[in-house]
Amino acid sequence: VPVVAVVGRPNVGKSTLVNRIIGRRQAVVEDVPGVTRDRVPYDAQWAGRQFTVVDTGGWEPDAKDRAAAIAAQAETAVATADVVLFVVDAVVGSTDVDEAAVRMLRRSAKPVILVANKADNAAVEVEATSLWSLGLGEPFAVSALHGRGSGELLDAIMEALPEAPKIVEDRPRGPRRVALVGRPNVGKSSLLNRFSGEERAVVDSVAGTTVDPVDSLVRIGGETWHLVDTAGLRKRVGKASGTEYYASLRTAAAIEAAEVAVVLLDASEPISEQDQRILSMVTETGRALVIAFNKWDLVDGDRRYYLDKEIERELRRIPWAIRLNLSAMTGRAVDKLAPALRKALASWETRVPTAQLNSWLTALVQATPHPVRGGRAPKILFATQAGTCPPRFVLFTTAPLDAGYQRFVERKLREEFGFEGSPVEISVRPRK
Ligand code: GDP
Repeated sequence: VPVVAVVGRPNVGKSTLVNRIIGRRQAVVEDVPGVTRDRVPYDAQWAGRQFTVVDTGGWEPDAKDRAAAIAAQAETAVATADVVLFVVDAVVGSTDVDEAAVRMLRRSAKPVILVANKADNAAVEVEATSLWSLGLGEPFAVSALHGRGSGELLDAIMEALPEAPKIVEDRPRGPRRVALVGRPNVGKSSLLNRFSGEERAVVDSVAGTTVDPVDSLVRIGGETWHLVDTAGLRKRVGKASGTEYYASLRTAAAIEAAEVAVVLLDASEPISEQDQRILSMVTETGRALVIAFNKWDLVDGDRRYYLDKEIERELRRIPWAIRLNLSAMTGRAVDKLAPALRKALASWETRVPTAQLNSWLTALVQATPHPVRGGRAPKILFATQAGTCPPRFVLFTTAPLDAGYQRFVERKLREEFGFEGSPVEISVRPRK
């Protein structure tokens, strides 16, 4: 998600402008001279596109050198933003502090949009044209308070943003897409048969659904699910189901086409390399994941002991996967499948509001800062969620983070927000 930073002297109306852009009157902290605010990001959208607005705030309470203070603020904005909004007070006109900031902003390659705020009437709007002299191009005369000119400003921001992503449309209507995968003989077709009674019968009753001939619509837990490539699961008597290579391609394609994968493992046998490859396909494709240990009826006390050890060792990298112990033969825990799928999909689609994400993050980095490295510690400035399905986060930082610290942030993120059954991607964008 592209970032727009708002820069300007205290009292020019930055908070009011941010409120105007995000379109609600939430508690954006007042723009009081001499009051330090942290960089606060907010979610915004305009013309069907999403972006993040960062109110750079950040004045030292009693900065002796105001020019230096605003330069530091501008520097942070330039470092983290895709577009900078430079706000001046149209009634006051430009001051020498404004001009110091402009010099700093012009040195960067980032697009800067000049906002002449407090243009509440036509007279001030005319006044504002004199701000051309700042050398930042056309001043946008805006009344953040009354809304005057804010539409034109938002259009200009959209034009300056690099490929601002279209808001992702809601996923296509129709049943959720599930891949049921696992190596041969783990019990895939046996499990499918548990649900097959009403299979296909519902095809016509689900409006707007296109189902491939190899797919099936299946009722599981009172809900219709779109099972991908069930043709690959049916046993053709007397025929081998193809080479392992072919089977693996088919598995990969099914996972790709699905939103959530059920990876079936044979609980009576050791977790194999082939099982691991299938699990990796799911995590690398970024799909939600439910691991079902089938043939649980064959698991006795001894096997249970070894299985626990195997799980600890072999599934260490995916502790977030939802695990079920079931038996396609006896029907044990088969009713747990639908709730597990729903939970995994809910995690997969989770969007954490930016304000909530950052108040959590601020507390986290305060309690456990990045370790010092070569005399300095990289700082996390703020974070945004760049997408869902699976949840993807971007950390804006002063420098690359240690891998260990990044894992720590991910672990804490999961502790706070859940994401059970879904991978989570975190990328770091160090400022340049
Ligand atoms: P697929 O190749 O993954 O589709 O596996 P199948 O469904 O064909 O099952 C392979 C073998 O395992 C068959 O002999 C099944 O009867 C058996 N099987 C499947 N599920 C279970 C189970 O829960 N318990 C036991 N004991 N056997 C099972």
